Amino acid sequence: MAQALVDHYGGDTAFKTGYALHDVLLKDTLRPVDSFSSLEGVRVGSIPSVEGAGWKVNDSRSLYAVKGWGGPYFLVDDSGRLCVKPSADAAPVDVYKLCRDVRQQGVQFPMLLRFPEIVRGRLHELQGCFNHAIALAGYQGVFSGVFPVKCNHDCGLIEGILEAGRPCNFGLEVGSKAELLMAMSKIGTSPGALLICNGYKDAAFMRLAVHCWELGIKAVIVLEQTQELDVLLEEAAKAGVQPVIGMRAKLATRHGGHWGTTSGENAKFGLSPSDMVAVMRKLTAAGMADCLQLLHFHIGSQITNLSVVTEAASEAAYLYAELAHMGAAMRYLDCGGGLGIDYDGTASESHSSLPFSIQDYASGIVCAVQSVCTEKAIPVPTVVTESGRALVSHHAVLIFDVISRQGQVCQPPAAEPEEAAQAEHHVVKAARKEELSPRLTVQGQALLQASRAATRAVQPTAASMREAYLLSLSLKEQALKAFKGGCISLEERASVDLECEAMLQRVRDIAAASDAALPDDVQLLCMPPVATYHINLSVFRSAPDMWAIQQLFPIMPIHRLDEQPTVSAILADLTCDSDGRIDRFISAAGSKASASTLKLHELKPGEPYLLGMFLTGAYQEVMGSAHNMLGTLNVVTVRSSNCSNSSVFGDTPEAEISPRLRGPGYAVDTVEHGESACEVLTRANHVRQDMVEGVRATASAAASQGRMEWGAAKSMLKAYERLLDSYTYLSL
Ligand SMILES: *Cc1c(COP(=O)(O)O)cnc(C)c1O
Repeated sequence: MAQALVDHYGGDTAFKTGYALHDVLLKDTLRPVDSFSSLEGVRVGSIPSVEGAGWKVNDSRSLYAVKGWGGPYFLVDDSGRLCVKPSADAAPVDVYKLCRDVRQQGVQFPMLLRFPEIVRGRLHELQGCFNHAIALAGYQGVFSGVFPVKCNHDCGLIEGILEAGRPCNFGLEVGSKAELLMAMSKIGTSPGALLICNGYKDAAFMRLAVHCWELGIKAVIVLEQTQELDVLLEEAAKAGVQPVIGMRAKLATRHGGHWGTTSGENAKFGLSPSDMVAVMRKLTAAGMADCLQLLHFHIGSQITNLSVVTEAASEAAYLYAELAHMGAAMRYLDCGGGLGIDYDGTASESHSSLPFSIQDYASGIVCAVQSVCTEKAIPVPTVVTESGRALVSHHAVLIFDVISRQGQVCQPPAAEPEEAAQAEHHVVKAARKEELSPRLTVQGQALLQASRAATRAVQPTAASMREAYLLSLSLKEQALKAFKGGCISLEERASVDLECEAMLQRVRDIAAASDAALPDDVQLLCMPPVATYHINLSVFRSAPDMWAIQQLFPIMPIHRLDEQPTVSAILADLTCDSDGRIDRFISAAGSKASASTLKLHELKPGEPYLLGMFLTGAYQEVMGSAHNMLGTLNVVTVRSSNCSNSSVFGDTPEAEISPRLRGPGYAVDTVEHGESACEVLTRANHVRQDMVEGVRATASAAASQGRMEWGAAKSMLKAYERLLDSYTYLSL
């Protein structure tokens, strides 16, 4: 009979579609972690292994490739906790302990941890690499970096960057009016710093920017298109000032990554060679050739090919030299952003990685520019870069909890011994309809008998295991068909599904116990089902690039790293959006391809399971959206408390900061609460008072009509208001 079923349904197709069906089968209801008791007696389809035996913290280090993407800031300590080491002289901070401490103070998950010292460290590293390259090459100029604020607009972060960069005149880059308004208010304290004004500009933008020099702010107005020149000249004439002007060049050098279209001749931004000549002529005619001092280019983000960087720098240097020869008072060559980071830790040319160091990047640019300037016999420019991603990605860590796990496999109902013995006989007997209860159907019972018999029949041979697998698929499919035809009850269908899963589990158990080498396809069948872990997070709010451009971020548990993670999982977020799931992960150290599952631990009753998503400090907060009205996160700013340079905020004396919380090696400087439901709703024009009044009216109607106690109505209204003012995420 078993073979007949396989034949009927075509083993091959069933096999090919196996994984989809498999997924359907494993869908279970959402199960809160709190009610762990309901999981007792549940059999979980993990690889039967000697749990934890022989598993070392080192295995976790390599499984999650921590050194590759995280060094030197993130590491796993010997007790199996993920630690942050914000600076070279800081002691590692146990992130799990930190989060638990913060949670105890009433700050809920998910939370974003900020480590300003890491930004400071990255900035000094970038500056140091350029200084080193300049010294090594005997380059007769300096490096003057700017931070593109669009990467992360956080006020404290930008102030921290200016403060850390003051000794080396580190400045800011803006691309819109709002960004300019913000940057102008901050940069005054860094008199030597550049304020690079990119982006499309109207008259108001120009007016503000041309006045910057009078304020002592070194603003450079970069022309993105020729039309902007007239507006600029007009505003400069009105103000009676000589602005410092830059030009954005459309380079021919292209890069192949996601942002490749930012570069090349069809790029959205920048001036073509003929535009540049036209602008130069116009400026000369106006007697303002010496206002042109900067050449800018930006060929994209996360550039993974060093020769693209040096080629672009070289091409730009030739343009720079030509402009100098045409009479411009050239001083700056702005190489834009594009310096990447190694998200997957593979140090490869994959879009999520980076095969070269910051030092290689700096040396490549410095040498390329120097060689062109020597050839063209012009003084070398001040090298400017607008590195955003490379500067701020590492400083922010997203911590979120797992709510529940889907894909727990339930025990199928046990077959009666007598029933088992007479399975075939029963099928015949069941054919007499009147003997069945209304919920039991002939077809349903027949399917159930068949699946039980098949489970018992699995033998430790490849052929038998393969057959059982195909059979389980076909039986499930038959049960579905019968159910859709109204022939079997829901309970029967569920029983068949569970029995089929038991059959697969038996195959896995037999395979695990067998010493013989199993053929690949059987091994594939024996893969444990992929579990879905529900996470207290919105991908759209907190890691939008995962969804928008398939960006990979390292994700891993931040504790229990001394235990073997036995479950292969994908993550599903809180939104009602099928795109709100994470099913691509970085792979273990030594492997290059991305992985389709993440190894996680079994959930433990009564213990939170915390995951971290790393390298999220650039673009994610800014691009995140309020899908399903999930708002911004609680943000906790942390510094190390036992390093010699403990005051991250420089000028602020240690005593003036009153840390809310101190723990081993750390002090929490600030906690900013994420948006409340009401704040998110207000952005969509909902008015708090109207909402409360609406519910109040409904409740008093219910009470006066006797459908609800007055007391209950009142406390319901109170709870409603309280929720309006609370965090939008699950409170576990
Ligand atoms: C986005 C952008 C940057 C920052 O790029 P990163 O790759 O993050 O360093 C710099 N300059 C310009 C003009 C940009 O548009």
